[in-house]
Amino acid sequence: MSRNSCNRIHIDSSALHNNYRLIQRCSGEKVPVMAMVKADAYGHGMLESARAFMRAGCRDFGVAELREAVLLRQAGIGGNIYVTLGLDTGEVEQVFRYDLIPVVYSHGLAAALSAKGLELGRKIDVHVKVDTGMGRLGLFPEDVYTFIDSLQSLKGIRPAGLMSHFPESDDQLAKSTESSFCKFKELCETLKSRFSLVCHIANSGAVLNFAHTCCDMVRAGIALYGYHPAGGDFSDRLATGRLEPAMSFISRVLQVKTFGPGKGISYGHSFRTEKETKIAVIPVGYEDGYSRLLSNRGEVLVGGRMANVRGRICMNMCMLDVTRVKGVTAGDEVVLLGRQGDLKITADDIADKIGTISYEILCMLGNNNSRYIR
Ligand SMILES: *Cc1c(COP(=O)(O)O)cnc(C)c1O
Repeated sequence: MSRNSCNRIHIDSSALHNNYRLIQRCSGEKVPVMAMVKADAYGHGMLESARAFMRAGCRDFGVAELREAVLLRQAGIGGNIYVTLGLDTGEVEQVFRYDLIPVVYSHGLAAALSAKGLELGRKIDVHVKVDTGMGRLGLFPEDVYTFIDSLQSLKGIRPAGLMSHFPESDDQLAKSTESSFCKFKELCETLKSRFSLVCHIANSGAVLNFAHTCCDMVRAGIALYGYHPAGGDFSDRLATGRLEPAMSFISRVLQVKTFGPGKGISYGHSFRTEKETKIAVIPVGYEDGYSRLLSNRGEVLVGGRMANVRGRICMNMCMLDVTRVKGVTAGDEVVLLGRQGDLKITADDIADKIGTISYEILCMLGNNNSRYIR
């Protein structure tokens, strides 16, 4: 479509840079911080975010799928790129062509990678995924020894890393982090006597809450985008500084009108005016990633004040109660995420209203709107 959307996502690249430096300090300057840039960098734009992290010293990037890794390379991103979900055996050639590091958890993929390596006269690093309690992807710890032994006969690949993932590291009090870490550490110690392995398990929550689990590398996502995985502002815990949300979401008022008492607003008339009510219509709906669950719940900033969403969120519009906001007119800025004057709305504020987490809000808003990075 030719017309620019009224809705804009702004990404503050200096916030990305500062958050990266902060997480690097938390994990220890010698421990590489892999920037997780999957899902278009949690809605922030994969290439632009990767470049911002690179300028902050990042040399390791994590994505979910091969397609994302190829895009990073084609855009000229150097360093190590890890494909954390593995890939189809039919795609292994691209791992060599783009010099990627695949995560493996099955003999089939390892064998296909090795065969291609032998055919090309090359040997490629792989990282082995173990499930130490996440209950998701990876080999069970007891199966890792035989798996790694079986890799030794595969001359086209080299086991270069061992990785796992924490299910509850966002919660300082959860018990599973220590038990997962114990299993992981035991595997690492045993296998490191035989192979030179980069061991990594810590995500943002672990870096912030369990710094002793940082091992040889950490994989940070949400913290780099300015949020604590448990929600809320835990920045006071970081002696070295404060995480800064990098994303804001801005729109404009389309029309302002005043309704008399007893009038229904939007589909289903789920909101009815009690008294004379000034309503602003904005071009933001669930199509733009502003969840319909925010109907009658959302809050936004307009004219330097908080205004409530009234009635149901439509596909590409919703209505705000601006009765108490002076002088609002068509064209005025509306901040749905970010700061206006002294007030701010975070992805945690939005997430809390609808029972989800900042991650999902960032992906939904970021990946459904035009983005501008500065
Ligand atoms: C997304 C992801 C991370 C980052 O998690 P955060 O909670 O965002 O820090 C780490 N490791 C893996 C394998 C991931 O997929």
